[in-house]
Amino acid sequence: MAAQDHPETAQPAVQLAPASLPARTLEPDEIANPCPACDHPYATILLEGSDRLYATTDRTFQVVECQACQLIRLHPWPTAHELRGYYPDDYWFVPEQDAVSRLEEIYRRTVLRDHVNFVSRAVDSAQVEGPVLDVGCGGGLFLRMIAERGRKVVGLDFALGAANAAWNTNQVPAVCGALTQAPFASESFAAVTMFHVIEHLYDPVAYLDAARQMLKPAGRLIVQVPNAACWQFLLLGESWNGVDVPRHLINYRARDLEFLLDRCGFEVVRRKFFSLRDTPAGLASSLPPSLDPMARRIRKQPESPRARLAKDLVYLALTAASVPFTLLEAACHAGSTIMLEARKKK
Ligand SMILES: [Zn+2]
Repeated sequence: MAAQDHPETAQPAVQLAPASLPARTLEPDEIANPCPACDHPYATILLEGSDRLYATTDRTFQVVECQACQLIRLHPWPTAHELRGYYPDDYWFVPEQDAVSRLEEIYRRTVLRDHVNFVSRAVDSAQVEGPVLDVGCGGGLFLRMIAERGRKVVGLDFALGAANAAWNTNQVPAVCGALTQAPFASESFAAVTMFHVIEHLYDPVAYLDAARQMLKPAGRLIVQVPNAACWQFLLLGESWNGVDVPRHLINYRARDLEFLLDRCGFEVVRRKFFSLRDTPAGLASSLPPSLDPMARRIRKQPESPRARLAKDLVYLALTAASVPFTLLEAACHAGSTIMLEARKKK
């Protein structure tokens, strides 16, 4: 399926609120951290949950909505030390040499073409030269595919193992660290991409400021997050995998992300509410998280090769069955992902 087959729009998103979820007000003495966007102390509890996907902790968290600006956030925010414990050691994809892994890499390449096409179109239309920086590059397959189209690429990841995997598995030059301390020159990149990064950050403004500084004047910022104003969140509540307790510190609606980008000096020029990689598979992972291939690998469940293949095929069938619903969501601007292309404001 080509990128242009998916709904893309220059119009802002329809606004939805998870009003159907059970709600109670967080008492003032329960507030551990006020709203990071407006500092308002009062919030409404939307749901409570724990690490449903990777089972790294039994601790329960709340997901709350600010009563002033409606930003949805995890509550309380774990400390940086605690948060590190909620990230599995092998949080990125590195193919092994067996047949199932080779099939998985073919699948990953197929669905990643959607991201590659979105970024290529952004850079081509901006007519800007220079490398693409992927923040949170993981194992580097996305950048390898960008490089195969003749562009220079650089990866950045918090995890040393991910940066190593990018170099060794996909021949992608990668740096380990935070964007705010990365050794890159001002105005050096044609594009900076952040796929599923800023919802994990305590201070997204610092990252967006750094990206703005590193982008060439005509460069493009591409940001993707789960869209909390989606039908899946309304229907599934805490089971929606886009909430991802306790790793997502902020659950953005499309309008929250646009407001944040505007505040950081960016102008949004393109929006997309469907991702071939993320939205159908996200719905499949929300229904039975125990089938999610990454979750099974991280939980280290013993599986025979035959059982692994069978579970992968069931997951693939569920993903395929999820495509029509996720396309309909996206067509109504209520898809479970939001991918934005933005340029620097003059
Ligand atoms: Zn607020």
